[in-house]
Amino acid sequence: MSESKKLFGIAKKSIPSGVNSPVRYFEPYPFFTKKADGAYIWDVDNKRYIDFCNGYGALLLGHRRKEITKSVSAQLSKGVLYCTPTKSEIELAELIIRNFPSIDKVRLTNTGGEATMTAIRLARGFTKKKKIIKFEGCYHGAHDSVLVRAGSGFAHNGISVSEGVLDEVAKNTLVAEYNNIQDLQNIIRRNKDIAGVIVEPIPANMGLVLPKENFVSDLQKITRENNIPLIFDEVVTGFRIAPGGAQEFFGAKPDITTMAKALGNGFTISAVGGRKEIMDLLAPKGKVYQASTFAGNPVSVSAAISSIKTINKIKNKMYSKLERFNMAFSAGLDDIAKDMRIPHHINSTASMFQIFFTDKPVINYKTSKNADARKFQKMFKTLLKNNVFIAPSQFETVFLSDAHTEIDMNKALDAYHLALKSVKS
Ligand SMILES: *Cc1c(COP(=O)(O)O)cnc(C)c1O
Repeated sequence: MSESKKLFGIAKKSIPSGVNSPVRYFEPYPFFTKKADGAYIWDVDNKRYIDFCNGYGALLLGHRRKEITKSVSAQLSKGVLYCTPTKSEIELAELIIRNFPSIDKVRLTNTGGEATMTAIRLARGFTKKKKIIKFEGCYHGAHDSVLVRAGSGFAHNGISVSEGVLDEVAKNTLVAEYNNIQDLQNIIRRNKDIAGVIVEPIPANMGLVLPKENFVSDLQKITRENNIPLIFDEVVTGFRIAPGGAQEFFGAKPDITTMAKALGNGFTISAVGGRKEIMDLLAPKGKVYQASTFAGNPVSVSAAISSIKTINKIKNKMYSKLERFNMAFSAGLDDIAKDMRIPHHINSTASMFQIFFTDKPVINYKTSKNADARKFQKMFKTLLKNNVFIAPSQFETVFLSDAHTEIDMNKALDAYHLALKSVKS
């Protein structure tokens, strides 16, 4: 019996479903990890995988990036938690503000969900209104007001509204179809009580979906015309699409921005930032409450400072290299699938891609859900067998990191070739 199988049997007894986050589970059991380095992750049975999951996008610079390990190690010798302000927090805030011109002020939080929860509370505090609009299939973390027709593991498990979320809460979350401006306009016209619109500018939690031309600028235009704060959830896209996130790429200026994953390159840290008059509503001077013992802890802060500095230093090389790798890979994958006559659709941008087994373009949750999930699972398993680890769901995205080499990419494409053969059979 493999060590992973044995450990999973034991884990189930003390951990619900044996995992600490739902999407980590897959049939018949997930592999247990021993270590990770650069572009690779090793399981407890000493099998090495090319990591195409990369902490769900967090590890933009790869595992154990030396600049980050160095600054975190230095911090460890000076203590890990002060719960008092530090000079480093100013440095990090200024770095974030410099990279994101829409942000005047920024508060640090710990997880993506905590950042979006704060963003929504701020929007409600600012407008004194109740309802928020989200898009179907977008994922904003595991808190009540956004666990309505969400993506990621939520979509994977086919849930519409989580049990335990009050109807009174869920009914204040209105859901629009992504890439459908008319739908958003209709909802805004019918409801006077909108506190904010939250969106993944490039959704990465219903698989990867790309905004249609003008969708992002239309979003900004319509929310401005109606005086509704626009929240960009850049938890995935912040630093991954560009040093200034998807908003830099689209030339957009949201009122509030959240970021997390690549901000700390694997360390626990997130941030919520935005216009001064909104951010100044936060306690203690303001009346919108937000707090955390671990927020701005010196270890995560040192990781984030080092991540941003490294990104800013290598940006001219890194983003174009990742895009080149990704475009070549996606084109190669498309050729293989075409040769095999497998109905498929590939969405791909910057350092992210996803393949869907469907003959229609995937532009929103409905079209993503129509893709053949069974085929995807077959592909996932064959990839795993052939030493490539991707997130175990078609409602996730493949993420490249700066640690991947051309050799890794070619090996991974060979594995996808075998995986598509298994889908075909
Ligand atoms: C992962 C994710 C979140 C939630 O972040 P956590 O750190 O898991 O709470 C929020 N929004 C988006 C877009 C995400 O991908």
